[in-house]
Amino acid sequence: MNKYIGAHVSASGGVENAPLNAKAIGATAFALFTKNQRQWVAKPFTSENILEFRKNCEASGYEPFQILPHDSYLINLGNPDRDALEKSRAAFLDEMQRCEQLGLDRLNFHPGGHMNKTGEEESMQLIAASINLALKATKGVIAVIENTAGQGSNLGHTFEQIAYIIDRVEDQSRVGVCIDTCHAFTAGYDLKSKKGFEDTFNQFETIVGFKYLKGMHLNDSKKEHGSRVDRHDNLGKGFIGLEPFQWIMADERFNGIPLVLETPDDSLWEKEIKLLKSFSS
Ligand SMILES: [Zn+2]
Ligand SMILES: [Zn+2]
Repeated sequence: MNKYIGAHVSASGGVENAPLNAKAIGATAFALFTKNQRQWVAKPFTSENILEFRKNCEASGYEPFQILPHDSYLINLGNPDRDALEKSRAAFLDEMQRCEQLGLDRLNFHPGGHMNKTGEEESMQLIAASINLALKATKGVIAVIENTAGQGSNLGHTFEQIAYIIDRVEDQSRVGVCIDTCHAFTAGYDLKSKKGFEDTFNQFETIVGFKYLKGMHLNDSKKEHGSRVDRHDNLGKGFIGLEPFQWIMADERFNGIPLVLETPDDSLWEKEIKLLKSFSS
């Protein structure tokens, strides 16, 4: 089986606990926050944090390509306000460096938004410049752009916008994409019908390219198609339904990357992982 399936697990008590929490629910992939996602500044890792994290990953069979860290929700790399942008860029660099320290090879982030203070293109140019700065100051970590639901002024809700940003990244070997199924659906991509599903991923291939796909977030949606609202639901409980997740599991284009649940009821994760695994065999 070339599908790696897990959930965004807790790292509370230390980053080294995340692989243990993932193992406990039968995950073969996982996501984590490497610091408190609602705070700007975090304590640096101790050497013990780093050693234990690496040891626990190795003991549980997690390699970097199965792990998709997620950055803080506060960061907006496209903010036209200069001070706010600088603060976001510093925090993003810190997140990239934390991944580097842990030996991880990718960091998933939300591109950001224009805050109704500038145009979409200007903001996307800031996002690309922010990525370039972080890549120059680090090594080996891929900046993975997550598609958004398009709430408020958030960019990255169309494949064209994601391609626009990638086009402006200098080292394209270190930029990637994570598709969140809930975000894609509420942003207007019809994943629910077989034809819509095929069209969506054919468009993704044409406009962005599967070679950039470095992870997926598997979430059902509490909100309707095209609503541009970001509210995840557990698999089969929302407007997307179970079938599209069966199609993903049977599709080789989603092999070899972390497929991560961010569904709200974490007591169902173990079951959802089992279900997804059963779709892929
Ligand atoms: Zn996200
Ligand atoms: Zn997501």
